[in-house]
Amino acid sequence: MCGIVAYLGPREAYPILIKGLHRLEYRGYDSAGVALLNGGLSVFKTKGRVSDLENFARNENLHATIGIAHTRWATHGEPNSINAHPHYSQSKKLAIIHNGIIENYAVLKKALINRGYHFQSDTDTEVLVNLIEDIQINEKVELEEAVRIALNQVTGAYAMVLLSEDDPDLLIAARKGSPMVIGIGKDEFFVASDATPLVEYTKSVIYLSEEDVAVMRRGEQIHLKNIKNQEKNPYVQALEMDINKLEKGGYEHFMLKEIFEQPSSIRDSMRGRLHAEKGIVSLGGLVDYEQKIAHAKRIIIVACGTSWHAGLVGEYLIEDLARIPVEVEYASEFRYRNPIITEEDVVIAISQSGETADTLAAIALAKEKGATILGICNVVGSSIARVTDAGSYTHAGPEIGVASTKAFTAQVTVLILLALRLAQIRATIPVSRWMELLHELNAIPEKVDKALQCHDQVKKIADEFKDVRNFLYLGRGYNFPVALEGALKLKEISYIHAEGYPAAEMKHGPIALIDKDMPVVFVAPNTGIYDKVVSNIQEVKARNGKVIAIVTEGDETVRKMADYVVEIPATEEMFVSLLATIPLQKLAYHMAILRGCNVDQPRNLAKSVTVE
Ligand code: GLU
Repeated sequence: MCGIVAYLGPREAYPILIKGLHRLEYRGYDSAGVALLNGGLSVFKTKGRVSDLENFARNENLHATIGIAHTRWATHGEPNSINAHPHYSQSKKLAIIHNGIIENYAVLKKALINRGYHFQSDTDTEVLVNLIEDIQINEKVELEEAVRIALNQVTGAYAMVLLSEDDPDLLIAARKGSPMVIGIGKDEFFVASDATPLVEYTKSVIYLSEEDVAVMRRGEQIHLKNIKNQEKNPYVQALEMDINKLEKGGYEHFMLKEIFEQPSSIRDSMRGRLHAEKGIVSLGGLVDYEQKIAHAKRIIIVACGTSWHAGLVGEYLIEDLARIPVEVEYASEFRYRNPIITEEDVVIAISQSGETADTLAAIALAKEKGATILGICNVVGSSIARVTDAGSYTHAGPEIGVASTKAFTAQVTVLILLALRLAQIRATIPVSRWMELLHELNAIPEKVDKALQCHDQVKKIADEFKDVRNFLYLGRGYNFPVALEGALKLKEISYIHAEGYPAAEMKHGPIALIDKDMPVVFVAPNTGIYDKVVSNIQEVKARNGKVIAIVTEGDETVRKMADYVVEIPATEEMFVSLLATIPLQKLAYHMAILRGCNVDQPRNLAKSVTVE
């Protein structure tokens, strides 16, 4: 998590660093800091947000053409200004910013204390910078070599950038397990956790690979090697990112903008892949692996959070349409539970950022066992895109709001396309039915647009329930993952406790919670086992619970029973999650706004979860 930005070149560094930090603030934001080199090395850092840092540093001399900056998402030590990055080394000659966790920091710290080092902060990061300094002094090596030696002693994850007062034209960056991209301009270098801070300055980027160390010196070409001391040729790529997509575009919050973008983001996910008239579905990135997937003994989907919910929809889709057994696993559990994986399995890893540490570890495990690994992620060039055998981008565009919205529907769209393609290869559904589904899928973006019209209605519901402490979300079949996702959205941004359940499970426990103060959201469109859901609604009403129901337009049965209904357009059961999710995203949004919460940057959360 956390955001890293660094600059070296002819321009003023501070404005570039601050603007970059604002772009990365979605990644982590409990404290922020900057180090500038201009004669001496100065560090300014404070608890709070990037704007707090700007206020804090307002009256300082901020002129410099080299600097590093960081927003922190604390792992070691509370979020205060001492633990904020950058961290000085003991001599104050080095300053470091770091993203990730140095797992063996305690042992290293003890050894350094025995050698006379004193620590100001509780962080693992300060251990790393002192380790580098200690090696530099005692082994009498160049800073770059000291970094390399130190990183060989470290276990864990890092993306780090280092400044040295003694070498004021030098930036050293390295990564393992945490993402890092370097932008190359004319006589200048930009370093960042993702490409968003670089996009307006350069379109030439280098994505660092695992264990790469990059040395950037004023007036010279970038020099790349890995921590094993092997020289590497920098691979410069063209950055494809639209700056307009990084701004709020007139919306009050990124999350709201992203909710409203869904008709076009879903369309973008299908672009060039679905040709309903011609009866073609093809996922370019997977073409070479289609047969392998279609004949896999089993598909295992690994993911976390919202992506895991998309994975559940994927399970229903692939089993339903293509009749291939699918298991969906939390990546964090999968990696530690000695799972049975064979070479005949296909593992699909889903992640918005493509940097999720747990998912990357699950991939590594599955790879070791010989499975074929595919990725579904949003961020182009991300680690998952690079470590998988093949994959499909969701093409939802940058998602800045921490709570995922358009990335979820884009993931589901890609999974729908995959399931349809597999069904075609395996001939598991009649061609006429298959064609019907293609046409309906093609119409989905327009229906999402219609579903988005529920704005004012949902706002009213939010107003009624904004002060409650608990919520229950229920759904069956394809609507069960939607219920889980709706509950997660509410928890994430409004801090109201919410549980998602399969509707029929209610009577096995959660029904005990129902009374007049308990709102229950039923995801109850007129598809699948609708009648059974109607019975579940009756059970809640019989106990005086308050029912909010998501229904198909024109529904009369549920309308009579529910306290509130929100309509979505009619569609095929297997596509319903794309529509039913919309009012639930909005409900969470309005509840959070009415409760005064920070929708785009909810407390304790970060967009890209690069720690275990
Ligand atoms: N582990 C470091 C700390 O706690 C870095 C955290 C981060 O990635 O922001 O300070």
